[in-house]
Amino acid sequence: MSAPAAPCRTWVIDHRVDAATRERLGDARQLADLRSESVGALIVGSCCDSEALITAGADCVKIVEPVSPAYSASVCGSAGRTLNAEAILAPLRPRVVLASGSPDGRAWAARLAVRRSWRLFSPALQADFDRDDRLVVTVLSACGRYSREATLGPDETAVLTLAPGVAEAAPPDSARVGTVERIASVEVGEEPIRVEREIPADPSEVDIRYTARIVAGGRGLGGADGFEQLARVARILKASVAGSRVAVDLGWIDRERQVGQTGKTVTPELYLACGISGASHHLAGMAEARHIVAINTDPDAPIFKAAHLGLVADLRKVLSELERQLAAQPGSAR
Ligand SMILES: Cc1cc2nc3c(=O)[nH]c(=O)nc-3n(C[C@H](O)[C@H](O)[C@H](O)COP(=O)(O)OP(=O)(O)OC[C@H]3O[C@@H](n4cnc5c(N)ncnc54)[C@H](O)[C@@H]3O)c2cc1C
Repeated sequence: MSAPAAPCRTWVIDHRVDAATRERLGDARQLADLRSESVGALIVGSCCDSEALITAGADCVKIVEPVSPAYSASVCGSAGRTLNAEAILAPLRPRVVLASGSPDGRAWAARLAVRRSWRLFSPALQADFDRDDRLVVTVLSACGRYSREATLGPDETAVLTLAPGVAEAAPPDSARVGTVERIASVEVGEEPIRVEREIPADPSEVDIRYTARIVAGGRGLGGADGFEQLARVARILKASVAGSRVAVDLGWIDRERQVGQTGKTVTPELYLACGISGASHHLAGMAEARHIVAINTDPDAPIFKAAHLGLVADLRKVLSELERQLAAQPGSAR
């Protein structure tokens, strides 16, 4: 493998390699290509497939592997990762460091940025270079309701976290070459914070913008009791309940659960729309959901144009059957 010729000032940091790492490498590749630079990937705390990083866009891979099970806890922990990332990246004067938008990745990114006085943008939406070689970062604020731009000069370093699924990973290119370096961990000592266990958020209480599954109801639910049935299905699916503005105005569901132009914008993995016509004001808040399933008695309802799967049916019958079948599944959360 030949060494990359161009300087490596755009780095992706992670503690393992998964689809989100490859997405960030795609972003890093685009940024670095604008300046004919190389992309680095720094993986701290796991033995990983360096080839996968190179085919996904890295030119220079550095891996800090855990050396023993006892040691690995501190290397893998957020403080351990920070010290390793700082030791390796600081001398390289990166311009951009891209970390995961997971809670874990955001903690790591924040610690790294604070230790080096690098500028933190978490969560960021995208980054680009302008004509004057300044980095322009689009940042989300107010829990994603607004975006703003920040501009950084050539001597500044930006640490960005990006949510998984925001970018597309580039197709793997097996012709790519790169360098791989395995590095021993620096002495990191005791991890100051130990995670005993993770408690998953209760989907019935979590903000609908941060949930993976949503079952939403509209006027077609017929009343508050329709929402009770929806809540039962949601519980089994580990989903959150949301509604159209009409459902909110009728008092069937809280306003904080309204989806749409004057409600919230959601991008869950699954959006099950029940008795919602699909007015443009509603679609504005959910059209980017990964899988949209719609149940509506009207075959001409606009929601079907946005849906990946549509059922022209009475929602009460479908929900009753869904509830029955899901509840019969082993391990059902009912
Ligand atoms: C400025 C502005 C902002 C707005 N902002 C929003 C917003 O943020 N969010 C939002 O949702 N709306 C918003 N609206 C309102 C929007 O235009 C629609 O009026 C609203 O989305 C319609 O809600 P709905 O789909 O629940 O009701 P409807 O349009 O009345 O649709 C009900 C649907 O249920 C179906 N149905 C009825 N019975 C059954 C059954 N038994 N089984 C299956 N299907 C059945 C019907 O076929 C129909 O398609 C806004 C409007 C304006 C003017």
